[in-house]
Amino acid sequence: MGEVWTLAEFSHGKLSSVSYELLNRGKNLAEKLNTALASVVLGYNVKREYIDELIARGADKVYVVDDKNLENFLVEPYAKVLIALIKEYNPEIFLAAATTTGRTLMPYVAVKVRTGLTADCTVLDIEEGTGNLLQTRPAIGGNILATIKTPNTRPQMATVRPHSTKPALPDRNRTGEVIYKKFDEDVFLSKSKYLRFIKDESQQVSLQDAKIIVSGGRGLGRPENFKMIDELAELLGGAVGASREVVDRGWKPYPHQIGLSGKTVSPALYIAVGISGAIQHIAGMQTSENILAINKDPDAQIFKIANLGIVGDLNEILPLLIEKIKAYKKKEAV
Ligand SMILES: Cc1cc2nc3c(=O)[nH]c(=O)nc-3n(C[C@H](O)[C@H](O)[C@H](O)COP(=O)(O)OP(=O)(O)OC[C@H]3O[C@@H](n4cnc5c(N)ncnc54)[C@H](O)[C@@H]3O)c2cc1C
Repeated sequence: MGEVWTLAEFSHGKLSSVSYELLNRGKNLAEKLNTALASVVLGYNVKREYIDELIARGADKVYVVDDKNLENFLVEPYAKVLIALIKEYNPEIFLAAATTTGRTLMPYVAVKVRTGLTADCTVLDIEEGTGNLLQTRPAIGGNILATIKTPNTRPQMATVRPHSTKPALPDRNRTGEVIYKKFDEDVFLSKSKYLRFIKDESQQVSLQDAKIIVSGGRGLGRPENFKMIDELAELLGGAVGASREVVDRGWKPYPHQIGLSGKTVSPALYIAVGISGAIQHIAGMQTSENILAINKDPDAQIFKIANLGIVGDLNEILPLLIEKIKAYKKKEAV
């Protein structure tokens, strides 16, 4: 049985935390298949501490390709290195994050090694009996959940939606094997050239990076009431989310939608206001560290996953909350 591989994302001299989310997913699959879990790191000056972190968080093996030519992400050299590794080691499963890097790289690799790829999975499991990877993702505008299999070719490749699971926690007692691989210069040849990195500063706080999210639902009643959500989010330095009901009504544009057919988020604090807690909404925010729900219905589903709940009319609670935070901030400033 081949190994389960995850692509660790290493860029600008750092590992991104999505690498640990993939290890969490991979650990479950490797255990079910009774095989090793390995991470692949491509980059330049990959410090030992990052490799040790991957081992602490579940990797039994780490394949490292450390080369000046891999300092900045370019699809061709990255893909050629991965293809060479796949051909040498024949992994059973290969997962990457559905980030810009993963979405660019993995389809290229999958085509070249003539295997299937399922993009943007939210659930992964192993099929009993066959050992095939069950790759589940929302399809047809999020109206159905499709489970896809790759029964005839290997590796089974999938990209996984960031924040759809928690990062694996470190265990400093774990040990693992580190395999450094070298490649000839011609592997790194590319038709494209890296010029420079320009950070997109135009975006407001991005939902997926926000530490605090204030989300509004149909309970707000009218689009104008969303101003209270915007104000609360601004006061807390957070981002604004919305349920699908709100987006379908045109109160907020689609990029704010959280849930199965929207974004998956994992902030330190998620405040759900006038949101019932439908399963499709919860799918997008259940990994939040703390959930505060405000709803007038004490039996609303959202209270089942909330750490803190306020039962009452949001039209009374929100203005009070905003006033209190403003007063607190004023006092702090003195
Ligand atoms: C395939 C599929 C995909 C979907 N994807 C998503 C998705 O990505 N995201 C998503 O959110 N939904 C999604 N949905 C829709 C989902 O099923 C729910 O319909 C939706 O989440 C409900 O939105 P809501 O909670 O804002 O509205 P409602 O369910 O109508 O809830 C409104 C809540 O507000 C409360 N309320 C009303 N007035 C007040 C008040 N004055 N004060 C306090 N509380 C009040 C009510 O008690 C109620 O609990 C999807 C559905 C399907 C079938």
